[in-house]
Amino acid sequence: MQITYVLELLKPTNKKENNFLKNIEQVVKIRYEISKLLKSGENNLSSADFPHIELPSAIKNQDIREVKSLYRRFKKSNSKKENLDFKPNQPLCYNNQNYKIDNHIISIPLYTTKTTRFAFPVKKTKRFYELQEHINNGSKLGKASLFYKKSKWYFAVTIQIPNKNNNNTNIMGIDIGLRQLAVASINTFKDKEINRQFHNGKQAGFIRKKYRSVRKNMGELKKIKAIKNLNDKEQRWMSDLNHKISSQLINLAVQEQVGTIVMENLKNIRNTAQSINEADRNLDSWAFYQLQQFIEYKAKMAGIKVEYINPKYTSQRCSKCGKVEKSNRNGNLYSCSCGNHIHSDLNAARNIADKFLHTLEQQSA
Ligand SMILES: [Zn+2]
Repeated sequence: MQITYVLELLKPTNKKENNFLKNIEQVVKIRYEISKLLKSGENNLSSADFPHIELPSAIKNQDIREVKSLYRRFKKSNSKKENLDFKPNQPLCYNNQNYKIDNHIISIPLYTTKTTRFAFPVKKTKRFYELQEHINNGSKLGKASLFYKKSKWYFAVTIQIPNKNNNNTNIMGIDIGLRQLAVASINTFKDKEINRQFHNGKQAGFIRKKYRSVRKNMGELKKIKAIKNLNDKEQRWMSDLNHKISSQLINLAVQEQVGTIVMENLKNIRNTAQSINEADRNLDSWAFYQLQQFIEYKAKMAGIKVEYINPKYTSQRCSKCGKVEKSNRNGNLYSCSCGNHIHSDLNAARNIADKFLHTLEQQSA
């Protein structure tokens, strides 16, 4: 499995920073020139066509290849734009021969001269130590890129991690939502629940409501930049929370010898009464999606498979007798005439695990 670690770098000296910013400028410049030539029908391009651009020819050729493929996609997309657009903060890309990671120092060459290397100290975060552990275990580093965002420098490194496998047969169904951010039900292969975990959404709901009202008042004043900062702050807060929830879920999954985690395919996001506003709904679906991504990635690291099922009826079906009855669900409580009285989100989590079990049975029948 390949994973990417985005490492924050400590602030470089002004001189170093200017050198790399100049590199980025040249990359943006050559990309615009290449796309312009491609548009005019010029297809036979080589690094020699851009003598005024201060980049090594290998980098120029790499940009030609990349812009060509971007341009092909752009033409197919029937975009209304005139031509490709490049962000002013294009990343500088390196293959694993070009950069070195030695302890917490990353050494990268400047694009112009092969002999000038620069050392960037990395911020020692948990992510960094995790990467270090993989390197010490002999995992191979792959492509990397240096990029500049909001006055900070980052280095994104890919690393190839061997796939872990386990033969565990327990199944964890996870329901994701607003009232409970996540509810997990762990079941044996024989459909018997052995453990559960709740992640209440009350605190998150409260904090997000606060952000929402501040944002609303700002909206009237049209402080666009302030709103954006607030959104970023809220997103960072949600990301932190999603990291915590996903770690706790995976810890439980490992402890209970789970072989497969099952979640809903949330492509069609459910409409909930709590989120009428379009912008809020987007934030909700973004947060749901991110939580699933975190769970999936941490599960894979732990050797646990992840499957997605169709969410249809998972909240209306009775997890005990199988009857589908919309009115059985009343807020937090699911009550069925068969005697099943259960938290409605736990009922959904069980149904999610169930649904996957059924597809397995159908496959083996
Ligand atoms: Zn029932």
